[in-house]
Amino acid sequence: MKAKYDVVVVGAGPAGAITAKTAAEGGLDVLMIEKRQEIGDPVRCAEGVAKPQLKKHIEPDERWISAEVKGSRIIAPDGTAVELLEDISGAEVGYVLERKVFDRVLADEAALAGADVRVKTRATGVIIEDGFVKGITATHLGEEFEIRADIVIGADGIESKIGRWAGIDTTLAAYEIASGAQFLVTDIEIDCDRCEFYLGSCVAPAGYLWVFPKGVRSANVGLAISEDIRDSGNRPITLLRKFVEAHYPNGKIIEIVVGGVPVSGPLDRMVANGLILVGDAAHQSDPLTGGGIINAMDAGKIAGEVAVRAIAEDDVSKVRLQEYETIWRAQFGKKLERSLAVKNRFVEMSDKDLNKLVHTVDDIDFSTVDLPGLLVKIIHRNPKMLFSLRKLFM
Ligand SMILES: Cc1cc2nc3c(=O)[nH]c(=O)nc-3n(C[C@H](O)[C@H](O)[C@H](O)COP(=O)(O)OP(=O)(O)OC[C@H]3O[C@@H](n4cnc5c(N)ncnc54)[C@H](O)[C@@H]3O)c2cc1C
Repeated sequence: MKAKYDVVVVGAGPAGAITAKTAAEGGLDVLMIEKRQEIGDPVRCAEGVAKPQLKKHIEPDERWISAEVKGSRIIAPDGTAVELLEDISGAEVGYVLERKVFDRVLADEAALAGADVRVKTRATGVIIEDGFVKGITATHLGEEFEIRADIVIGADGIESKIGRWAGIDTTLAAYEIASGAQFLVTDIEIDCDRCEFYLGSCVAPAGYLWVFPKGVRSANVGLAISEDIRDSGNRPITLLRKFVEAHYPNGKIIEIVVGGVPVSGPLDRMVANGLILVGDAAHQSDPLTGGGIINAMDAGKIAGEVAVRAIAEDDVSKVRLQEYETIWRAQFGKKLERSLAVKNRFVEMSDKDLNKLVHTVDDIDFSTVDLPGLLVKIIHRNPKMLFSLRKLFM
């Protein structure tokens, strides 16, 4: 490891790995550090991704695909189930990943592009000189040291400290965090090409529960609820246990995952002098679904490209790095804004509202609508319930 790099990336999740790979491919000297001893493990994710968006970054590979999903089933609080299928919507659906392998493959690609990678190495602070971030302090096996860099990339996930150390307000209120619990349940009967989403106050108040296939007889069964609801006595793990006992009484739980995801919408500011934040560290996960893998990869690509240009111009000021934020907001800002508006309405819906919403979907002729079209149709059918969202989709 060198004492000075062009770019130091803190965190080897999807955001960090794609940033490191892009910057290294652009000819920069890059180091990516990861505090855990194994990249990708433990997993804190349901591992669902949309196919077309993933393919922009990496060719699908059976090493990290647990299941190929051709449709989704939404189950209302009253038990009404509605199917959204690939062959009638025309849209490709998704994959359930094996993130333990996927994250490692992404890190491997960054390394093959020329980035140095260091595991079991934790950033402990940022070096600030003359108002610029100039590197980080870190520890590895009890040894403390400095790593200097022209640009530091904070890709350190929901627990991110890099932004705060550099003076960016990254605080999340309890209602801005989706708190999740998940079991990998095996030896159960599932549809191995369908994702299921359960709605309702008994299952996941102000949230949802998912069943994502992980092969022929296994599934990620998990739920996420707003952290402020959790504070008032609804523990995700208790709700999940109740669901699994009722639906999969003979299932065997071979893994437990707990974790949070930002559902606040993106940070107001994601750059500082010599610093860029990407992925969950910049709160770029989708506020409605909690999905953040693709968003993290998209942001990492933009961040890596901007780092290459900024370093070539010998200007890593906040004003120069602002290009990252501008490109990112132009491409994804509106989408996340819509998701946040829908989420804010969704969390207030009663079981009656949710039943009505699902019944409306039940009645729609899917052969004539694509998925965005479907949303517009639902909103047209529920003018009172969703009036506040209408202008966002029209
Ligand atoms: C229960 C649950 C289910 C989810 N399900 C889905 C889903 O189905 N689909 C989806 O798209 N998204 C899902 N998400 C969200 C998704 O996991 C994240 O959005 C995604 O991992 C963000 O990627 P990232 O690279 O920004 O952060 P992360 O993947 O969190 O990576 C950050 C990395 O930084 C490291 N790090 C942190 N601090 C330091 C430090 N000081 N020094 C060095 N390294 C550090 C961490 O160890 C970690 O490896 C889920 C999240 C949860 C909690």
